[in-house]
Amino acid sequence: MSYPACLAVCREVPKACTSTGIVWETNVHAISPLVDFASHDQKNRWLPVIANGGLAALALTEPSAGSDATGMKTTFREDEILVNGSKIFITNGDVADIIVLFGKWAELGDGRDAISVAVIEKGAPGFEVIGTDKKMGSRASSTAALSFNTCRIPRANLLGKPGEGLKMLYDFLRKSRPSVAAQALGIARAAFEDAIAYVNDCPAPLKRLRFEVSLFSKRGDRRCGKAVSAKSRSSAS
Ligand SMILES: Cc1cc2nc3c(=O)[nH]c(=O)nc-3n(C[C@H](O)[C@H](O)[C@H](O)COP(=O)(O)OP(=O)(O)OC[C@H]3O[C@@H](n4cnc5c(N)ncnc54)[C@H](O)[C@@H]3O)c2cc1C
Repeated sequence: MSYPACLAVCREVPKACTSTGIVWETNVHAISPLVDFASHDQKNRWLPVIANGGLAALALTEPSAGSDATGMKTTFREDEILVNGSKIFITNGDVADIIVLFGKWAELGDGRDAISVAVIEKGAPGFEVIGTDKKMGSRASSTAALSFNTCRIPRANLLGKPGEGLKMLYDFLRKSRPSVAAQALGIARAAFEDAIAYVNDCPAPLKRLRFEVSLFSKRGDRRCGKAVSAKSRSSAS
């Protein structure tokens, strides 16, 4: 699928269901580091899981690393990789079959050049879903907190080489952020269309009242708008 087509889906699906849009969009973007940077063998291991209906998550954010994602504290160590750390706000995190996880390669220090990416499969020892957030909306799309306590994964789960994660991070952000804007556009458009339909379906006096109030508030003449509301209410009763 082309990128513009992907953005169009990200915009259109949330018009009907935001949660479905988020789950789909997260799946697409979470596997983009696999599509772009995984080896042939790694692609053969993980992409069929998703093609067969599996879900993916991408775990970047931590309690102390949000907008400044490079401040992450999760670490990868040793040849058979030992993962330690925690992640928050991870879409699909509790239900994903594979998690594309960002951390720092301990031997390379704590800077941006240590950022690396590994894949955690569901059920990996030491990996735990701590809980899911109770959100105001989009509740059918889960947002999870994850913990990695000396989680042991094979070296073959590392994408690229240790320290090659920063370019994967920027590539992911460059592709995923516009889809959040597309999603917001879809939701705003659906809300606008619903509002128009609601006003058009109102009984005639109400329709006139709404039109007059919106006209006056557009002019910034609130007192006048209130007077019209009161007048319309008394003539309607
Ligand atoms: C529903 C949901 C789903 C999510 N899904 C995922 C996911 O799947 N994977 C994942 O890794 N993350 C996910 N996130 C996390 C998301 O990427 C972070 O919330 C985001 O990066 C912001 O981080 P933060 O919440 O820690 O806010 P902060 O970084 O603490 O920012 C708080 C506020 O401060 C402002 N701010 C921050 N730094 C500066 C600065 N230097 N100068 C001026 N202003 C600044 C920000 O603009 C913001 O308004 C999700 C979040 C939500 C709400």
